Amino acid sequence: MGTKMKWTINDSENLYRVKRWGEGYFEIGSNGNLFVTPDPNNTDMRIDFKSVVEEIKQEGIQFPVVVRFHDILRSQVERLNQTFQDTIKEAEYQGSYMGVYPVKVNQMREVVEEVVDAGAPFNYGLEAGSKAELLTVMALNTNTESLTILNGYKDQEFMRLALLSLSLGRKTIVVIEKFSELILLVKIAEELGIKPLVGVRSKMTVKGRGKWASSGGERAKFGLTISEIINAARYLEERGMKDSLKLLHFHIGSQLTDIRSVKESINEGAMIYSELHKMGFKLDYVDVGGGLGIDYDGSKSTNDSSRNYNMSEYVADIVFGMKQVCDLEQVPHPTLVSESGRAITAHHSCVITQVVGEIKAHSTGINTDVVAGEHVLVSNIRELVDIIDTHDNLQEIFNDASQFKEQALDAFKLRVISLEELAKIETLYWQIMESVQLKIQSADFVPEEMQELEFNLSSQYLCNFSVFQSAADTWAIDQILPVVPLTRMDERPTVNCSLVDITCDSDGKLDKFISDHGISDVLPMHSLKPKEDYFLGLFLTGAYQDVMGDMHNLFGRLNEVHIFSHDDDPEDFYIEEVVKGSSVDDVLSIMQYHPSSMAQTLKKSIDKHVASGKMKPREGVKWTDFYENCLKGYTYLKV
Ligand SMILES: *Cc1c(COP(=O)(O)O)cnc(C)c1O
Repeated sequence: MGTKMKWTINDSENLYRVKRWGEGYFEIGSNGNLFVTPDPNNTDMRIDFKSVVEEIKQEGIQFPVVVRFHDILRSQVERLNQTFQDTIKEAEYQGSYMGVYPVKVNQMREVVEEVVDAGAPFNYGLEAGSKAELLTVMALNTNTESLTILNGYKDQEFMRLALLSLSLGRKTIVVIEKFSELILLVKIAEELGIKPLVGVRSKMTVKGRGKWASSGGERAKFGLTISEIINAARYLEERGMKDSLKLLHFHIGSQLTDIRSVKESINEGAMIYSELHKMGFKLDYVDVGGGLGIDYDGSKSTNDSSRNYNMSEYVADIVFGMKQVCDLEQVPHPTLVSESGRAITAHHSCVITQVVGEIKAHSTGINTDVVAGEHVLVSNIRELVDIIDTHDNLQEIFNDASQFKEQALDAFKLRVISLEELAKIETLYWQIMESVQLKIQSADFVPEEMQELEFNLSSQYLCNFSVFQSAADTWAIDQILPVVPLTRMDERPTVNCSLVDITCDSDGKLDKFISDHGISDVLPMHSLKPKEDYFLGLFLTGAYQDVMGDMHNLFGRLNEVHIFSHDDDPEDFYIEEVVKGSSVDDVLSIMQYHPSSMAQTLKKSIDKHVASGKMKPREGVKWTDFYENCLKGYTYLKV
């Protein structure tokens, strides 16, 4: 990076990698603002995030805000289904594809409804992993041509609901996670006189690589071993339900980073399917689970937050892999099912927040001019400042400055120098470190102790949001999510910073970022201008992050806007719906408080104060109203 050359949006692209994680939906516009193209079939429709922010402000909606692009959701559903259809045709695969969306990835009603609607032409179904999810799926998946797949641990009620769904004509398949579930299912099915549709989940020997590797392998929490699968098949046969066994299921983990584990699991799954077929158990479906990864860091690698393949390659490995084994074993090609959740939802939502302040690494503004009779430590360190531009041994200056600063601390403790002198020395020390940092940027080799300078000199941008609510996985599993300023990307970002949230928790921070040289603990951002908002977007939050947030510090759900693109609109979009986030009394009620009686108690105290003449009656009324309004208000900062 030549510091003299003008900064362009290409430099920003290299830095923030928008195109690399954006999958064609996001890009930097020539005006330096971030743009979204929610419908890839209509690339004329490009929405400037700046106008989205303006519209949100005009509607009087407070930030932080979750923005959902329904067109992206629809487009991802279409992409996955179309890719399977095209690949099946190309491979001359005899079976079809009947995918399901696993609702645990984002159970929001608006999301599930949109997925079902966009998936209708493909008979795209739903997957549930708990009773609450099953109740949801039964109400939403009314298409009798699509599948309803039931995973997770189940009780009697769960089985009854599944059989109810089946008798309503929905293709409802109960996937057996442990053997005792089969006995329970068969018992209830016999009682009700309904023939169930059964799937078996196989514990795979192949493990996924990445964060979720433990979902596979022999110690996996879910699934049957090969001998249990055979026993299950025989058990059904003995009960006259041999042809109830319809589906083989496996899921070796989410966010599979390496395509090799996909290939290996398909191979293993196809073998089990073929063997069962040859034993006389003619299953219709093979369900390959989820795991299709997202390139969060844009590196196209096997990093935990990336993956070394794309959707087409993933689908091709499933279709061609299954075909190859089935042809070799001379068994029919099964209908393929997959349960991609992350890949369907990750791109469609983001969090927009504003930076509300900068926490600098060190203070400036202390006068460091020479005064008569100052301590020699002060003059010594000032001398370093004077020679740094002409001296070529940076290491020596770095070492000397560090040593003077340490000595100054000792001297202060021994009352040899004053507090003011210590402040001067610290100020001069940081001044030196900034010059050193500037110089080592262009150096080929940077000694280890100086490598931390960038981080030590960096600022923290305080952002109006909660990591625990909006980006739980960055805290829990070191997931990387792209963070990008929404404007000014045609301007050089001059402040290296990490981001901190407004919770009172020192873990409430983001300090792992994508960068042009791998993962960095700081992200270059633009300097804040007085009276000008600086908005950031936290992207790819549509999978898991949207729904895993917690109540840490009683910040609740965010305000939400749902955006549809529209040709006739001058800005190419309109806000279709606003969903209000949590108010303070919402979150207090969840914690068992009674906001209205709290308001009464406070009013009584104010009344007493007024009665005793300590507060004017008018003021008392104002304060009472103020307290009540705050209870009704948004939990985040009003900026
Ligand atoms: C979580 C889960 C999925 C979804 O996985 P993604 O990686 O988000 O696609 C699919 N199937 C099962 C059984 C799951 O537990």
